[in-house]
Amino acid sequence: ELADLGVMGLAVMGANLARNAARKGFGVALYNRHGDKTDTLVSEFGHEGRFSPAKDLAGFVAALAKPRVIIIMVKAGKPVDDVIDDLVPHLDDGDIVIDGGNSLFTDTDRRFETLKSKNIRFIGMGVSGGEEGALEGPSMMPGGEREAYARIEPMVTKMAAQVDGTPCCTFIGPGGAGHYVKMVHNGIEYADMQLITEAYDLMKTVYGLDAPAMADVFKQWKSGDLDSYLIEITAAVLAKTDSTGHPLVDSIVDQAEQKGTGRWTAANALELGVPLTGITEAVFARVLSSQRKLRLEAAKALPFKQPAGRKAQAADLDAIRDALYASKIVAYAQGFEQMTAASQQYGWDLKLGEVATIWRGGCIIRARFLDRIRDAYGSETTLSNLILQDYFRDAVLKAEPGWRRVVSLAVEHGVAIPAFSSSLSYYDGLRRERGPANLLQGLRDYFGAHTYRRLDQEGSFHTRWSQDGSEVKV
Ligand code: NDP
Repeated sequence: ELADLGVMGLAVMGANLARNAARKGFGVALYNRHGDKTDTLVSEFGHEGRFSPAKDLAGFVAALAKPRVIIIMVKAGKPVDDVIDDLVPHLDDGDIVIDGGNSLFTDTDRRFETLKSKNIRFIGMGVSGGEEGALEGPSMMPGGEREAYARIEPMVTKMAAQVDGTPCCTFIGPGGAGHYVKMVHNGIEYADMQLITEAYDLMKTVYGLDAPAMADVFKQWKSGDLDSYLIEITAAVLAKTDSTGHPLVDSIVDQAEQKGTGRWTAANALELGVPLTGITEAVFARVLSSQRKLRLEAAKALPFKQPAGRKAQAADLDAIRDALYASKIVAYAQGFEQMTAASQQYGWDLKLGEVATIWRGGCIIRARFLDRIRDAYGSETTLSNLILQDYFRDAVLKAEPGWRRVVSLAVEHGVAIPAFSSSLSYYDGLRRERGPANLLQGLRDYFGAHTYRRLDQEGSFHTRWSQDGSEVKV
């Protein structure tokens, strides 16, 4: 019997997606550049379902029912192009190739066009949920052509996580839209994680809490508005001890790595002109953490004075929780604003309520408040910013006093909180009816004759600053 689906690339994600499909009753053809991964998968998990392992591409393609559906799950970047180049000569018109890796959306657009010219239907599909999600049911963000998606829909919606009977998978939009939304998802994941580390740093550095105590705090937060997968695993990581009985987290090197999706999100925000402060600060914080040699040098030259441990009262921890929640709302508001801008700029017609819906399960940023975001975009199609919607407006207003206190406290004690503080500055800038950019426009007009507009008159003006000082309408 021919297989329903082929999976190419059997590292952790590919292998687990293949097992996921097989467990759901689909026949799965397997191929990996180095055959050892194929052999391991079949010997360890072959009993889970119907697998057709292949030694070469010809055998792989021959094992598939037509039109063929193939998921590529290899390292993002050039390997995807290499694999597509190798694969295409073996395919027929109408076959469907899905790239399930973390590809840059502009690469997906390009591949989509190239393959279209060869009559191959290409789908760029973001897959979130890591190793476990891929196996148990991830959140999936497919983009490309709707008709091609319709063909794979019965399979992918069955493989995806389910929340209240709704699959965490829906058609996102044309071309690279699916990978774009996955990119912003990852950007939000960066912000979420950065905010968690800032809360951790404050509790540890200002209040002297140890890892087990902080694990308890995060466990408590998990039962409130902050309820999310990342808060849950933070409690687990903080609670873990190593073989010496000490908290493992205290022995982990404080240098963050990154693969690029956060950086891409920030770069795209700059291009679209969206004020994406939370995610961008999170990317920079990882970069600064990675400059360990420089930090060690700076720590000698500019010694940090450890605050004399203050005892944390319940209200202090509540304030940190509030700062975390409000900053998280800002990060999501900015990410969703970016998707709105992208949808307009690239002509994608993204349905943001549906995006929030498929992020409720399976993925790394799954969180209770995504239900609220779904409601917000479901009821108001023209929502300009999440913070202005009733539920979130009330939430940030309620959190604001604690948020402000925490930012002041961190500044006072020299604890870096780039995401907490930039989110608060964004919030403060956003709600000012009259900001200070009038002066900025005056400066621009002074040195560059860039002109300004007036509140009391129509049109553009220029002042002859260095000549007779007169104002002219231009
Ligand atoms: P990796 O990104 O580590 O990639 C390894 C796989 O790519 C192996 O199967 C390897 O084959 C194959 N490969 C690499 N270069 C080539 C090449 N030139 N030609 C053919 N095959 C090649 O694997 P992951 O499973 O971690 O991730 C797969 C994709 O999913 C990536 O895009 C990743 O960003 C994305 N992703 C990963 C998540 C995770 O939690 N790990 C979560 C969500 C998405 P070989 O064995 O022969 O070397």
